[in-house]
Order: sequence, then C-alpha cells, then structure tokens
Amino acid sequence: MKRECNDCLPGDVAAMACPPRSVTQLQFWRRSLQAGFFILFILAPVFDIFRIDVTQAHVVLFGQVWSLGINALMHGETSGPQAVLNIILRGLLPLLLLVIGFGWIAWRYGRLYCGWLCPHFSVVEMINGLMRRASGKPSVWEKHALPETRADGHRLPVQRSYWWLVLLAAMGFAFLWAVALLTYLLPPTEIYANLIHLSLTRNQIIFLSAATTVLTLEFFLARHLFCRFGCAVGVFQSLVWMANKRGMVVGFDRQRAPECATCDSQCEHACPMRLKPRAIKRHMFTCTECGQCIAACEQVQDKVQAGKPPLLQWVQGACALDTSARDFGKRPQIPTNCYRR
Ligand code: SF4
Ligand code: SF4
Repeated sequence: MKRECNDCLPGDVAAMACPPRSVTQLQFWRRSLQAGFFILFILAPVFDIFRIDVTQAHVVLFGQVWSLGINALMHGETSGPQAVLNIILRGLLPLLLLVIGFGWIAWRYGRLYCGWLCPHFSVVEMINGLMRRASGKPSVWEKHALPETRADGHRLPVQRSYWWLVLLAAMGFAFLWAVALLTYLLPPTEIYANLIHLSLTRNQIIFLSAATTVLTLEFFLARHLFCRFGCAVGVFQSLVWMANKRGMVVGFDRQRAPECATCDSQCEHACPMRLKPRAIKRHMFTCTECGQCIAACEQVQDKVQAGKPPLLQWVQGACALDTSARDFGKRPQIPTNCYRR
C-alpha cells in the first residue's frame, strides 16, 4: 500500500522509504507530539498511567499495582528465592527491555525522544523563542543578538515587554513541573485537593517551593546546560548515537556549500540547542534531531526558488559518514545520491 506523506517519520524520509516531505510541515507534527506528550506527562499520575506511590511503596502502571514484593518478604509472606525471582521478572527484566528498546531508537535515530517528545525540551524551545523576542538572544549566555529577520523572511523586532512573558513562562512551567513531580510520588487526588483548598502539608509546601525555585532558575538560566550535561536520558542517547557512525544525522550537502554565501546562517540561529548544524557529528553531540535547522534552510532556499531542497537534510547509512566520520583529516567518500537537489 502506498504510504501517504503525512505518515513519514524523519527516519523514513532519510531512508527514502517515503516521498520526501516538507520539513517545515513536519514541524507542525513535531509540535503536536510535544504538546501531547507534555499533557501526558502532567496527567499520567492523575489517570494512574504511571506513578510511584511512596506512601504504599509500590508503582502504579496502567491502573495496576506493580510491586517487587519486598513488603511481602519483610512480612514473611514470600520465600527468599521467590522474592529474587520477583525482582528479576518485575524489576530488572522490564527495565532491561526498556533500555534496549530506547537504546535501539537512539542508535538509529539519535536523540529523537529529546526533540520530539521530551516535556523539558518543549519548555526550552518556548522560552528560547520568548527570550529572542525580548532581547534578540535565545539565551542569556548568547554573546550577540540574532538577526530580527527570520528564515521565512518575517521580521520580528525585539520587544522588551516580552521579558514579562519570559518570567511568567519560566515560573509557570516550573510550578506546573513541581506539582506534576509531586503527584508522581504522592497520590494526585490528595495533592490537587490540598492545592485547591489551600491545605498543603508543611512538607508539600517545602517540596513545591524548593522545586519551583530550582526549576525557575534552571528554565531561565541553565535549560540548555541541563539538556547537554545534566540529563541522564539525554546523555545516554547521545553516547549510544555517537557509537553508530551510520545513524541518522543532520547532513550538509557540501557540494552546494557556496549557496550559503547569501544566507546569514539561519540554520544556526534556529537551533534550540545552539549548535552549528553544518558541523561534524562530534560537534553535534547534543543534537536532538528536532529538524529546526533543516526547516530554516528549507525556508531560505524556498525564497531563492520555490521548492528548492535545503542544503541540510537528514541522512543515514553510508550517507551519514560525511558528517560522522569526517574528522582529523578524514574525508569519507559517500554515495552521490545522498541529497535531494
Ligand atoms: S542541529 Fe538541527 S536538528 Fe540538531 S538540535 Fe540543532 S536544530 Fe535541532
Ligand atoms: S545551510 Fe541553509 S540555512 Fe544554513 S547557512 Fe547554508 S543556506 Fe543558510
């Protein structure tokens, strides 16, 4: 059966298993996935999809109690060998399968989870956008302001009043995150009821105040640093991905490099992780495969000639070697049909 363009995932596009589609359009689906996953992240404990109930010392998964049986062992209700078997079958094995499945995706497609689902990265992108409107810079650590004209030709001038939105977003998302994290640990009905009736316990107030403060500072000052070095899930995906030189990567069509002369590096300005997307893979360790750089280049090229393919494209297999194995004087030969032209 012929697949429709809308079914394509980035990997399918790179593998040419689907007709190439506009990466700019693909951004709509990415944003929708991010929004859906963010809602799931907030509501998963409420609907008992996943939470760790520390009051009962068990996990709730899809409405079912998931226990390692340690309580039963302590009360003498189960034997030692049975308890070990429970830990292996209910704890280690599912964890191992999860790590293998997650690792396989990272091996082939890189940090796809980060760029397409992670509820932290969607906040990173949102605050980047607001900060760029407020100051011209997507982060307080950026040295120079970015151009006001975006890749699609629209001019969005700096408006200082956006700083209020930046603060509101950082504090609002921090509080939302803090409440969600608490409901992953304590019964959500209790937390939301206490919030509504302003009857939180002392410990709950301490947790929410501390988590909101730390997260506000993190969202405001260190959101990229956390994605790069602080998040174990992100670093795990990056390490696995780096080990596979043929894994999907944002490749740069070097034969068309002179065409960049008329562009003011819009791909770099668009990158939420503040990377240089035309660089080699070693310098793209924290790339989240969000495709923002590709979409920006697509818009730049579209202005030159309607429908002209971007210079940046997702590539994998032998085509990825030009980005992943190009280093220390190595210039790998790649197939001639890696890029749409
Ligand atoms: S290099 Fe491109 S795909 Fe990677 S994080 Fe930056 S914008 Fe996203
Ligand atoms: S790759 Fe595309 S967006 Fe980046 S500088 Fe070249 S033309 Fe501009």
